[in-house]
This record gives sequence, structure tokens and C-alpha cells, in this order.
Amino acid sequence: MEKLLPRFLEYVTTDTQSDPYSKTTPSTEKQWNLAKKLVMELHQIGLQEVSIDENAYIMATLPSNVDKKVPTIGFISHMDTSPDFSGKNVKPQVIENYDGKDIVLNKSKNIVLSPDYFEDLLQYEGQTLITTDGTTLLGADDKAGVAEIVTAMEYLVQHPEIKHGKIRIAFTPDEEIGRGAHKFDVKKFGADWAYTMDGSQIGELEYENFNAAKANITFTGKSVHPGYAKNKMVNAIGIANEFMSLLPVREVPEHTTGMEGFFHVHKIKGEIEKAEIELIIRDHDAVHFEARKELLKEVVDKLNQKHGDYVDLVIEDQYRNMREKVEPVFHIVEIAEEAMKSVGIEPIIKPIRGGTDGSQLSFMGLPCPNIFAGGHNFHGKYEYVPLESMQKAVEVIVKVCELTARQIK
Ligand SMILES: [Zn+2]
Repeated sequence: MEKLLPRFLEYVTTDTQSDPYSKTTPSTEKQWNLAKKLVMELHQIGLQEVSIDENAYIMATLPSNVDKKVPTIGFISHMDTSPDFSGKNVKPQVIENYDGKDIVLNKSKNIVLSPDYFEDLLQYEGQTLITTDGTTLLGADDKAGVAEIVTAMEYLVQHPEIKHGKIRIAFTPDEEIGRGAHKFDVKKFGADWAYTMDGSQIGELEYENFNAAKANITFTGKSVHPGYAKNKMVNAIGIANEFMSLLPVREVPEHTTGMEGFFHVHKIKGEIEKAEIELIIRDHDAVHFEARKELLKEVVDKLNQKHGDYVDLVIEDQYRNMREKVEPVFHIVEIAEEAMKSVGIEPIIKPIRGGTDGSQLSFMGLPCPNIFAGGHNFHGKYEYVPLESMQKAVEVIVKVCELTARQIK
């Protein structure tokens, strides 16, 4: 366990920022730098079947040490960091015995991590926090997860008295640009189920996420000199405006929380001849989700009936709520819950207002809830992680392995 911190510091100081505009996998060459180090390390700690494919997906095995047949389970985290904020030259600061006051991240730039703004800090008084120096992100998302999985595997190798089935682990590139699961070889991984170690604060356990779709609406107009436009001009901007006015005003991200879904118009551009709207649809409930898509179609039909055929709608599904894949095998959530409780953590189970790689993997045949990795304030300079939360995550992984071997006959 004493290697957890140095391991984490080593990973975060290796830049692995991904790039949404790249067409390659991994999206950036530099992700290989961490990938290669990890492959060496996995050999070193004594794992077997260590593999890395041409897309930098790493897999490895901790063999079973029991005679009976036990399900094969997996743990997954991602190596890349968000394109939203620099991950270059990360200079982590380790603050021992946190006193509950402001943390000056960067004196010359006056960047302060304050519990006045980030109240969550207060629950970590007396603990060891790892922060940035205010100029980069930290990369606890998800290198905390990587360090936790490696450390847990090392612990199990060194403690053969803890009985477990076959454990598979995987590290993926490009999660932050939505492609972490795309080239994941579920068959090769060969686990009955898995957990992504990619949640935020200690205790988080997630098996529900949004159903997601995006829509492009194109409005075609007819430009005529404004002075002579009566009954001739069709203003695409005007129809686009009418379209917006027909969407439910309160069902937007800024007015919704918990299990409430929304429409989110995130781009609009227009001229008389042509206007375009891009929006996303999010809803945990599959029936409501379909109803939202229907509503868009009705609005568009209505406008086309009124003005002539000037509006075109294209809806594309993005990802689905993993709940429908996890519910039939709900023991996989219960095992994680029990593992947390047995190491003194109260599980925080709440629906994700977004998606995870686990949701894609669940629909690819690998049910995959998400467990906390411990960090806060992802994708920015205020990102931090308490060492104690990471240690607890290691304990949870070990316990999940142990409980799976004990409970499943
Ligand atoms: Zn992540």
C-alpha cells in the first residue's frame, strides 16, 4: 500500500491528454508513454497474460487461487486526461494533515483552493491531499483509478491467503473523448462483469446513467429583398426561433437535477437562407427518453405543416442507461456495496447525469458499474484527491475480489 502514492505521482506527471480532433487510437502519441510504463509494471508486480494491443489497450490477469469455479471479474480505468485543461508538466503538491483552511495552489497567480467554495474539502480535515500547482489539471481522473487497481493487484499477489477467482484488469486510452470503450475487446477480456474505477468522491457507486441522443435540425429559408418580401420571404432564423419556443422551457440542464431529463440546445447558427440547431436529449427513463424524441418530431411536423417543408430533423442515439443491463445481474452492485460497507464506507448510490465507458461496455456484453476513484473537481486546476480515499478504493477492490469468490457458488 505504501507504493500507492509514489505510483500515483509517477502516473500524473506523465502527460496523457487525449485529443477529440485526432482520428487515431490512441488519439495522442504520448498516451503510449504511460501505457509502456504500465506494461512493465504489471509484469514486475507478477501479473500474467499482460498484453497491449495496437490501440494501447492494456489487459492483464491475476490468476485464481481457489479450486472451485468462481466468476471472472474485471477492473478498468483510463489512462488519458481531459482535453479541457492542460495535463502537461503536472507538479502535484502533497499536503499532509490538511488543516481545513485555504490551500494556496499558486502564490504568484493567486490561485486558491478554498473550502468556502469547495465545501467537500472539509470532510478531509486531517488527511493527506494531493493537489495541482494551479496551472494544470491533476489527472486523478483517472490515474487514481489506475494506481488503485495496480496497487490492489500487487496486494493480492503478496497476500495469497486472500482467496479470489480470476481477476482481469484493463487500462484504456481516450475515455475523455468518448472512445474508451470503442476498441475494447470484451471477448478477449473474458470477464463475467467488471467495474470501472472512475467515480469521484469516496463511496460513490453508480449503475445508472442517461439515455442520450443528439439532434440536428436544419431550417431552409428563401431570401428576398426585405422591401419586397411580403408573402415571399421565408426566414430560416424565424422558424428556428419558433422551434426553440416550442420546446419545454424548464426542461433544460440549468433547471433540472437528479432523475429529471432535458433538452439542451448547445449550438445555433443562422442566416435567412439557412439556420441550424444542434441539441442533445438526456433522460434516465427509457420511456421518457423516447417521448422526448417523439416531441421533437411532432414540433418539426407542426412547423412543416404551417410553413411548408422547410425543416429537417436528424436524431442520432449516443448511449443508453446501463441500468437495464445491470439490473438482471444486480448481485454485482450488491457485492460492491457490501465491499464498501465492510471497509467502513457508506455507499453513495446515485444516477450519473452523463455517461461512462461502463455504460457502453455494459451494452457490449460486459455489465460494468462505476466505483469511486476518490478525486474531486475533475478536468481543471482545482482537481484534488485525498490519499485516504485512494487507499479505501484499494481496499474495496480487494474486498470485491474476496466477496465474489466467497459468495458465488
Ligand atoms: Zn474519468
